[in-house]
Amino acid sequence: MAKISINIKEGTVAKESDVIIGIDLGTTNSLVAYIKDEQAVAVKGKDGKSTLVPSIIHFNSESNIEVGETAKSQLIADPANTIYSVKRLMGRSYKDVLDHENYFSYKIIDEDTESLVKVRIKDKFYTPIELSAEILKELKKRIEEVLEKKVSRAVITVPAYFNDAQRQATRDAGKLAGLDVLRIVNEPTAASLAYGIGLDEADEQTIAVYDLGGGTFDISILQSQNGIFEVLATNGDTFLGGDDFDRAIMDFWMEKNGMDKSVLKENKNLAQAIRLKSEEAKKALSSTDSFSESLGDFVCNITKTEFENAVQPLVQRTIDRCKSALKDAGLGVDKINHIVMVGGSTRIPLVKKSVAEFFGKEVFDKLDPDEVVALGAAIQADVLAGKQKNILLLDVTPLSLGIETVGGLMDTIIPRNSKVPTKGGRQYTTSVDGQKNLKVAVFQGERDLVDSNRKLGEFVLKGIPPMPAGLPKIEIQFILNADGILTVKAKELRSNVEQEIEIKSSYGLSEEEMALMLLDSIKNAESDMKARVLLEARNEGNNVYKSTLRFLKQNETILSEEEKSKTMEFANALNITIQGDDKDAINKAMESLNAYTEPLAHKAMDVNIKDALKGKKL
Ligand code: ADP
Ligand code: MG
Repeated sequence: MAKISINIKEGTVAKESDVIIGIDLGTTNSLVAYIKDEQAVAVKGKDGKSTLVPSIIHFNSESNIEVGETAKSQLIADPANTIYSVKRLMGRSYKDVLDHENYFSYKIIDEDTESLVKVRIKDKFYTPIELSAEILKELKKRIEEVLEKKVSRAVITVPAYFNDAQRQATRDAGKLAGLDVLRIVNEPTAASLAYGIGLDEADEQTIAVYDLGGGTFDISILQSQNGIFEVLATNGDTFLGGDDFDRAIMDFWMEKNGMDKSVLKENKNLAQAIRLKSEEAKKALSSTDSFSESLGDFVCNITKTEFENAVQPLVQRTIDRCKSALKDAGLGVDKINHIVMVGGSTRIPLVKKSVAEFFGKEVFDKLDPDEVVALGAAIQADVLAGKQKNILLLDVTPLSLGIETVGGLMDTIIPRNSKVPTKGGRQYTTSVDGQKNLKVAVFQGERDLVDSNRKLGEFVLKGIPPMPAGLPKIEIQFILNADGILTVKAKELRSNVEQEIEIKSSYGLSEEEMALMLLDSIKNAESDMKARVLLEARNEGNNVYKSTLRFLKQNETILSEEEKSKTMEFANALNITIQGDDKDAINKAMESLNAYTEPLAHKAMDVNIKDALKGKKL
């Protein structure tokens, strides 16, 4: 177990710890903060205006990418090339985001697989990891300008409900941006830390963190003791936030002006102008009692009382979620010691009042609700740097542990810097029909390809009963004890065949060697990511190619000659791109093949269902 500091600039192991930055990578806005003169501060841009960087990326051309305020101004002018809310896509498959596809104005790629989503911009395909890395690079640049030196280590926050894949994706984005991500911290934990709650209190504290942002609402119930936080329950609504409050004002004005909502559909510019005005009114009403302006003949008047009546049902929905969270945590409202307010929308007095009334306590709202998560991340970073004297640092795994998957890719199961003891696991399956054995090779390191990592051991899970490829469910479990001993277990869940080995994970590696391995991974992050997306595209292309051949064989009699030969043409074209090393070409070939075969698949399914029903009594 170790704590490592490296100096990225010089490529050496740093003896003294540099500043570690705290990053709030938000859906709407992102920020970076650090500790200055023992105070957490969020960093403003060069213009000195705001600490918020809108989480928006605009592609001018392939090589010209803008992030933040300038990108935001392109939302209306160039929607197809302007990416927002990328956080909603992190670690997600197309199936996960399908229901909300209309929400995005840019192109999300739909392959009918369970693989992770990609975004198409012009002729290129980007993963949400690459897109988030652009936001992180901007934040890194921002703080480097202020500090006038390079930074390389960061703590990044994520919602408490983020799963393993989403957390890993966030880590990867950090790496790609040239950051060593020391820890992924839950947003509500960071917010509590910003208020100093739980930092060094020996007594158990129970905390409710109420986070109402631009498009999302989260309520988290946490328990903390001696700086260790545990999430008891989370609840919320991923499509409820400040945007809905704006819409409530718009609706109010439309009615007042005797205008039908359909007008807005036809006149996008008017709709946009009214939308902006409604947000302005909402913000004004957080500190005044009425708002009155106009847009030409369109009167924009609203009093605070009228506003509160209009948004009351929305606020009530958040309170209902708080009730559910408490129920899940098995706690009465009287058990909550502290209530922390997070997110720009908690500036609304009605929101504050309703939350305080529900919990029967004053809420913590002295800090800027936009900044509080980033400030807490900076405090967590400071703790990790060993600068907060009265906080103990827990032992962590120095390097990630994982296994080799198809194509020689490293699949991390226990990320580096996980507190020990810890465990992690994932399900895998076979790639060949009737496969009886599965090799489990265990690696340690941060590189995307196992070849560049350190092999710790391997074993073969034998005796899997013959099944079609993809059917076996093989669970791999990593259990790391406090002494760094790793036990790897593999079990086929349908047949209960199992096997395990024990490995000493840090055996034979000096801290210096570990630090250099880490440094290597950051230096090579970009080329590693390129190799990874190419391998993933090839694997996916191969699967699509194989399933197309299977589809043709199964539906020989249903499809016409032309349909069959055309499908084969697209499939062959895909197969050629798989041999090459242009991932965009592979993705495009898959897209074309899928577009052509989708109606055929529907047709085949209809016929097959009819056949299946024939002769069967219903
Ligand atoms: P996210 O967590 O989704 O990135 P933020 O926490 O930055 O979002 O919150 C953005 C929301 O806060 C927007 O809907 C914005 O209109 C709202 N907001 C900002 N300032 C105020 C204010 N003074 N009064 C009411 N709402 C505000
Ligand atoms: Mg937020």
